[in-house]
Amino acid sequence: MTTQLLDGTAVAKAIRSEVAQDVAALKTSAGFAPRLAAVLVGDDPASQVYVRSKIAACIDVGMRSEEVRLPSTATQDQLMGRLRRLNEDPDVDGILVQLPLPRSLDRVAVVLALDPAKDVDGLHPLNAGRLLMRLEAPVPCTPSGIVELLERYRLPIAGQHAVIVGRSEIVGRPLGILLLQRDATVTVCHSKTRDLPAITRQADLLVAAIGRPAFVRAEHIRQGATVIDVGVNRLDDAQSAAAIFGEDSPRLRQVRERGYTLVGDVHPREAAGRAAHLTPVPGGIGPLTIACLLRNTLRAARARRRAVAP
Ligand code: NAP
Repeated sequence: MTTQLLDGTAVAKAIRSEVAQDVAALKTSAGFAPRLAAVLVGDDPASQVYVRSKIAACIDVGMRSEEVRLPSTATQDQLMGRLRRLNEDPDVDGILVQLPLPRSLDRVAVVLALDPAKDVDGLHPLNAGRLLMRLEAPVPCTPSGIVELLERYRLPIAGQHAVIVGRSEIVGRPLGILLLQRDATVTVCHSKTRDLPAITRQADLLVAAIGRPAFVRAEHIRQGATVIDVGVNRLDDAQSAAAIFGEDSPRLRQVRERGYTLVGDVHPREAAGRAAHLTPVPGGIGPLTIACLLRNTLRAARARRRAVAP
């Protein structure tokens, strides 16, 4: 079977260009550009890269953005104080707190402290509840990007059996809701699921959001399924990279030259040939997540400024 790679970068580019046009129109009609504050606590290298690329993406579409940096030693009170100031700042439209936070900090308290109107990740319970009730709300960016990718490629959702592996608040759970709302039959699996391959092999649409390199193998995939690989894992060991990508893969050279390569939660070589459609890593869901964040920020800016207009 030939496997079609779903080009997340191209779809993300289309979304970003739509956002850029809307931002330009907003600047002309209302005289402002949306502003995103990205809060980064500590110095996790991957989080630094994510925040930098989100800020660069804002600039690229004509939005304003700022990185709010706190040291890894920051206390819960310091972080809450900073969030309070961002909530109160009328010129901030969106607040993103880069996860994961250092272990000493309480993630749930942070999410609860966000002004729901500025919660561009859609994690606040008010927004999660609105999503459940099909009311307008910021939808978490990664699930939103996945649905957008499927829709723009005109891949069917209604009536399909979607199996999601992973039940995090940021990916698996909200994705389950979005797919259910689009009439898929949804199964959500997790670390306690028994006989995972027997379940995932029933999937027309298989989504892996686990955080384990190349975990989903040929035995998990039904011939002809659509496979969405959300995972982004750093692989710095040449032997594992050779086993996953092959001895003469450019990815192996990347590990030797750069010190690491990225691999998803799906074994790329085993999925190719079984899946009818597959998202690559990188270049699949990652760019879509950022594009949807930009769109959420634009929407938050419009809604907020409409609400506070005299
Ligand atoms: P997470 O919060 O750590 O959740 C992982 C989920 O996978 C949990 O529900 C866990 O089950 C499940 N799981 C772990 N081991 C399993 C196993 N052996 N069998 C079945 N299920 C298992 O992770 P996340 O934040 O959702 O992220 C998942 C992956 O997506 C990571 O690689 C992350 O980097 C990536 N990600 C990418 C993007 C992007 O833009 N591309 C965005 C977000 C996340 P339990 O609930 O039982 O523990």
